[in-house]
Amino acid sequence: MTPPRIAYTKPSITELEVSYATDAARNGWGERCYEYITRFEDAFRTHLGVRHAIATSSCTGALHMGLAALGVGPGDEVILADTNWIASVAPVVHLGADPVFVDIRPDSWCADPALVEAAITPRTRAILAVHLYGNLCDMDALLAIGARHGIPVVEDAAEAIGSVWRGRRAGSMGAFGAFSFHGTKTMTTGEGGMFVTNDDALYERVLTLSNHGRARSQTKQFWPDMVGFKYKMSNIQAAIGCAQMERIDELIAGKRRIFTAYREGLADVAGVSMNPEPAGTQNGFWMPTVVFSRDRGVTREMLQAAFARGNADARVFFWPLSSTSPFDRGDGLPVARDIAARAINLPAYHDITDDELQRVVSILRDLP
Ligand SMILES: *Cc1c(COP(=O)(O)O)cnc(C)c1O
Repeated sequence: MTPPRIAYTKPSITELEVSYATDAARNGWGERCYEYITRFEDAFRTHLGVRHAIATSSCTGALHMGLAALGVGPGDEVILADTNWIASVAPVVHLGADPVFVDIRPDSWCADPALVEAAITPRTRAILAVHLYGNLCDMDALLAIGARHGIPVVEDAAEAIGSVWRGRRAGSMGAFGAFSFHGTKTMTTGEGGMFVTNDDALYERVLTLSNHGRARSQTKQFWPDMVGFKYKMSNIQAAIGCAQMERIDELIAGKRRIFTAYREGLADVAGVSMNPEPAGTQNGFWMPTVVFSRDRGVTREMLQAAFARGNADARVFFWPLSSTSPFDRGDGLPVARDIAARAINLPAYHDITDDELQRVVSILRDLP
């Protein structure tokens, strides 16, 4: 008999989420229609240690508004790593700016700061630091480069809840941070996101943009001050978010339990490396990932076939964005292409059992 399929991600939903969502659906209307939203923003702000938070319908929306508020537009360039999901770069394209892809570091799988600095031109308007799979970008280096050139560094921390860089949480260090609460992320509201910043003026601009361009100082009813966006989170989603925030330490610890089980199960296997956690940092381990050394000869396709045989989900490491159809700039930058060809993301849903973790370990141990 085939054992049941192992999913790669599923949210952790308890009676708490159900009761808050039920309360929001039943009572969260009229003058109470923002209660859970405000509470969720406050809890998130406190967790992250930032001054301002605005709940959004997605991380993509938060990035779109944040970049728009920084003035990113046609003729501008935004630098980001080649290894990324399309959501990080789509807002750059929507704003009419040109993405500039740089290669990743082989140790962090995130943008190589030396290449970021080399890619700066008079048109560079922002550096987009994406913390991949929970791994942190070298924020000291990127912030120093940004300061040297007068270019804001912004953080896509969608995958990095629980990641901490020298005492500062991912998403709290740049000009702004963006988070995702999509159903596959460490914490979820179904769909949803968050914009965070310590910059009072930037906060006001995004608040106005997020309210269809109506400034909160505007007293005239239905009077837009500019054309804005509509990327709001509903009170019902925020209710689920409030419950997830009460459980945030447990949700982060759960990802570490899964990562640790994989690392220990694979400790004696030659030529396997996993998500790094350099001294002075914590990795939120959203997506445990294995990269096989070149001499092992294990390929993405072999890994996909082995997981299919083992009835377990696994995700390919992100393709180099520059190689995908919308950009079509060749085969991808060398390190981005090379690592993706010999790596795989492992199943990491919160309620995965120890037996299931061992099944995944066996799939990897049994590879030739
Ligand atoms: C999931 C993800 C996004 C997109 O989040 P949405 O909430 O679906 O818009 C953006 N960036 C990264 C790095 C992600 O992992």
